[in-house]
Amino acid sequence: MAAMDRLTFDLPEFAPGWVWLAGAGPGDPGLLTLHALHGLRSADVVVYDALVSPEALSLAASGATLEYAGKRGGRPSPTQADISQRLIRLARTGKRVLRLKGGDPFVFGRGGEEALTLVEAGVPFRIIPGISAGVGALAYAGIPLTHRDTNSAVTFLTGHNVAGVVPDQFDWPAIAKGSPVLVFYMAMKHLAEIAGRLVAAGRRPDEPVAIVSKATTAEQKVLETTLSNCHHDAFTAGIEPPAMVVIGEVVRLRAALDWQGAQDGRTLEPDPLGTRAQSQAG
Ligand code: SAH
Repeated sequence: MAAMDRLTFDLPEFAPGWVWLAGAGPGDPGLLTLHALHGLRSADVVVYDALVSPEALSLAASGATLEYAGKRGGRPSPTQADISQRLIRLARTGKRVLRLKGGDPFVFGRGGEEALTLVEAGVPFRIIPGISAGVGALAYAGIPLTHRDTNSAVTFLTGHNVAGVVPDQFDWPAIAKGSPVLVFYMAMKHLAEIAGRLVAAGRRPDEPVAIVSKATTAEQKVLETTLSNCHHDAFTAGIEPPAMVVIGEVVRLRAALDWQGAQDGRTLEPDPLGTRAQSQAG
């Protein structure tokens, strides 16, 4: 690949017998890091998850083996232990193993568990971060994660735990009170319950919510709604997973920053919070 040949610095060597645990970003292959791209081009085996895009996989070397390790309709999915053992076996046969996960491997991706198993087995490894959906989806929807006028803190949460239910270890009143912006992964199944718990814990029912589905792909859809309506509106609009749910005043900035919408003719409002006019006057 021409761009990689012209680098003026060295990327690390991918040595045989190593596992690189890398994030592929949320979908758009342009969001891969150079390290991930280098890993794809050098790996003998790529073990990938469901959320890794076909475009990213197409960057693997032509002789590389591509192994799917995720869930796929109907077929029994490999357990986490199976996947970890597979990585260890491949590394021990002297392969360069790229374990490629959607987004970032250490953000709700069980990358930590896989890396711990590699440590136990004495397999050398490198971690390559990726753009997590919680970052990429918001950037492509035109919603800053933090903004001086709305929030200087943000919380990332998961909408369900290992058992598939809303995590009951959450301290909902603390979450509702403690963070002006909440960014949920894996929340679609339990959206009504999550919204209900937040309102019960003191968040405003009319608080702005954005749901970003299939973010950064050609099929990206963004729904703007409110906490009390989000479940109903998502259902009516036929929003499909994977999706990110963003809750907070910062969502209003999308009226100004929806750069993708602007390409399709949306007129951007420069001051959706009404704060710029004030600060210019004062
Ligand atoms: N490690 C991943 C997250 C894995 S959990 C990361 O850092 O992004 C899977 C959840 O991620 C999905 O349920 C969804 O909430 C979110 N997700 C992943 N890719 C997405 C995408 N392209 N658009 C919207 N949400 C996405």
